[in-house]
Amino acid sequence: MLATGDLILWIGLLIVIGIAGFFVMSVVLVVRFIGYVGRLVFGGGSKTKRVQAPERDRQGVVCSHPRCGHANPFGTRYCGRCGRAFRAAYDFDTYG
Ligand SMILES: [Zn+2]
Repeated sequence: MLATGDLILWIGLLIVIGIAGFFVMSVVLVVRFIGYVGRLVFGGGSKTKRVQAPERDRQGVVCSHPRCGHANPFGTRYCGRCGRAFRAAYDFDTYG
């Protein structure tokens, strides 16, 4: 049969496992939160690869010319710097 000492040992072990689990959970949550904030602050590395095509962005329409890359106001059809015509995805809707 279980002695009192063993019972206390098992309860202590359960408490230790609970605290360790809680600690691991909080560390995972903190790491996830830091990653999320980091992506928000630094904008993520994958976004810079899509500069080639004009896209809907907070900046507006980014010129697809490799040497221009000018950020034009949203809804612009021609680049304000190099005059390149934009054929963005949202323009196809208006032309059918
Ligand atoms: Zn341009």
